[in-house]
Amino acid sequence: MRAYKFRLYPSKAQEKELNHHLWIEKNLWNILLEKTKEKYENEQKFLSVKEMREYAKGQGLYSQAAQSVVQNLDRSLKAKVRAKKKGQKWGFPRFKSFERVRSIFYPQSGFSLDKKLKVSPFGEIPIIRHRAMKGKIKTLSLKREASGKWHAIFSVEQEPQIQPANAGPAIGLDLGLNRLATLSDGKIIQNPHNFRKLEQKLAAAQRRLSRKLRTSHNRRKAKKKVALVHEAVANARKDYLHKSANWLLSNYSKIVMEDLRINEMAEEGHGKGIHDASWGLFTHMLCYKAASAGSEIVFVDPKDTSQECSGCHFTVQKGLWERIHQCSVCGLVLDRDINAAINILTRATAGMAGSNACGDGVIAPSLKQDATRFSGW
Ligand SMILES: [Zn+2]
Repeated sequence: MRAYKFRLYPSKAQEKELNHHLWIEKNLWNILLEKTKEKYENEQKFLSVKEMREYAKGQGLYSQAAQSVVQNLDRSLKAKVRAKKKGQKWGFPRFKSFERVRSIFYPQSGFSLDKKLKVSPFGEIPIIRHRAMKGKIKTLSLKREASGKWHAIFSVEQEPQIQPANAGPAIGLDLGLNRLATLSDGKIIQNPHNFRKLEQKLAAAQRRLSRKLRTSHNRRKAKKKVALVHEAVANARKDYLHKSANWLLSNYSKIVMEDLRINEMAEEGHGKGIHDASWGLFTHMLCYKAASAGSEIVFVDPKDTSQECSGCHFTVQKGLWERIHQCSVCGLVLDRDINAAINILTRATAGMAGSNACGDGVIAPSLKQDATRFSGW
């Protein structure tokens, strides 16, 4: 599956109707959640899908969208049951505000694509398709951005293409804070720090926002401005990560990385900083692009990759601030991150345990967001 995102240009009337649908979705989610909480209190059981469907009837929501709300809540409740069984802390999903409901999802039908996007019950919405979609369209999500723009996101099933193997060498890659990545051959991918101008704009917009009265019209305008700049920063960062991933995949046949379990970190509520988000997105991009580039991504145990000497495997303890690896046993002196990247590569080539699956463990928070976007929220 791959996703295509296109800008929509709904009319004023359509936009009103779209927003109204998001509003009903929010209400439906909250009603179903309240009912299931009630039932749980009385019978220690959640609402069944069938019961939820009964409640969803007559709420005025298009059937496909209603179905996806029910599926989402059911999936979310089942995840809680699994957590409970494993003895983990669990709680009910949260009630949603209008701001948190961002998309209308069509899991199977209700839309067709020609010059315009024909979608029930909104009619024909002008769409800009800036590239061709290859494959069979499976689902559609209509998404309202924080800036107020609307997008259509299609998920498309593609025939797997068999690519000739990439002839490049294998490489170890160390994700970092100062640099996005350091490679075992000494090459460096810098962090996308070229957003100074946008960031300054963002700061200015936020300052203006904080000065506005809580309910004023100007405040709404200022808020939209902040959202627009946020969007521009996120797009620029994504673009940089895409280019970096493409460059890596066209030059190396095998990319070895640390298995950082980024999604677990994010789910457990650790700080989800910009770095986590960039790492997660970058890893996700490498994974889904690798097959068509004829390359392979391998994940290895991250334990002590920066402490181990890549020359003699002696452990050289060092703090985060020590940028140079200096081994007292074999005399190796090397940039700290290059040393780590060599260790990462060695772990995949020396017959040590490495997993080559871009599996659940490394699905990034960004992908999670995509996943939730696809399921309608
Ligand atoms: Zn050494």
